Amino acid sequence: DGSLTDPERQSGEALDRALRPQSFEDYVGQDAIKSNLKVYVDAAKARGEALDHVLLFGPPGLGKTTLAQIVSKELGVGFRSTSGPVIAKAGDLAAILTNLEANDVLFIDEIHRLPPAVEEILYPAMEDYALDIVIGEGPSARSVRLDLAPFTLVGATTRAGLLANPLRDRFGIPMRLDFYSPEHLSRIIMAAARKLSANITEEGALEIATRARGTPRIAIRLLRRVRDFAEAEGASIDKAAASRALSRLEIDQDGLDALDRRYLEALVRTYAGGPVGADTLAAALSEARDAVEDMIEPFLMQKGYIARTPRGRIAAPLAYERLGLSPPDSGQQ
Ligand code: ADP
Repeated sequence: DGSLTDPERQSGEALDRALRPQSFEDYVGQDAIKSNLKVYVDAAKARGEALDHVLLFGPPGLGKTTLAQIVSKELGVGFRSTSGPVIAKAGDLAAILTNLEANDVLFIDEIHRLPPAVEEILYPAMEDYALDIVIGEGPSARSVRLDLAPFTLVGATTRAGLLANPLRDRFGIPMRLDFYSPEHLSRIIMAAARKLSANITEEGALEIATRARGTPRIAIRLLRRVRDFAEAEGASIDKAAASRALSRLEIDQDGLDALDRRYLEALVRTYAGGPVGADTLAAALSEARDAVEDMIEPFLMQKGYIARTPRGRIAAPLAYERLGLSPPDSGQQ
């Protein structure tokens, strides 16, 4: 689409939408999830029924929203999207639910942030496709049951543990998205570069991919920044150009950014390697605890820099190495 290369339209949601894969074929990686979902989608379609409710969990930017959209497309049904913090009252959710058509997909991002009163009305909706509405107050109050069209709830959350058990149990299809390999990210970058008409080599894409924290959203964001630098130099994005640009963006060889490094510094130097609580670390970084737990820690944990223990976060030997220190002798602790 030529309009994508128009500088006026570089930022914002239009671009996001244009870069979103539209089918299972274009959705790179997550192979186990994809192949299972395909089976479930085909079965639901063949029976003419709503697909069972799907819970997608994993760090931000791994493709949960994208996957929900693809599921609705492959089912050939409507897609409605909202998020936990946006739905303030039970009535807000009731309005959305009563407007769904048969077998539609309702996507609720950050579903762990639904207010408890809203969560309550979600249970009968998920289980029986019904709304229990209380009319009146006090002794004369009575409950009326309203039938809903069958629908599929696709919930997304950063960590499964954030969900109350009764809610989690009502999802027939729970799926955990993993960080992407550099090879998969590289394919995502190449596809995005084509759509952006950016001049990039395979090696350039791989260089960005290995420094993108296993996350498609970060890979695409880095591609756009690297492309700015490359264009300013009048060069194409080859390995050297990508590496130069990423260094200027303070993203190191392992994909750690400035905030990751500050986290490790705080944990190792200020708190002697831990254990230290998430709240304390978040305060030391002047970041929200949620942001620290969702955006920073999962990647550092996956790469073996830190570990979570019941008493708090601890630095792994790799974290000391990373900061040019030698780990404390564990025998002396
Ligand atoms: P989440 O909902 O998990 O935060 P999104 O679905 O919004 O993540 O994905 C972030 C961006 O990454 C989107 O712009 C999408 O185009 C891209 N993306 C995510 N997963 C994939 C994938 N598997 N293949 C190709 N692009 C992807």
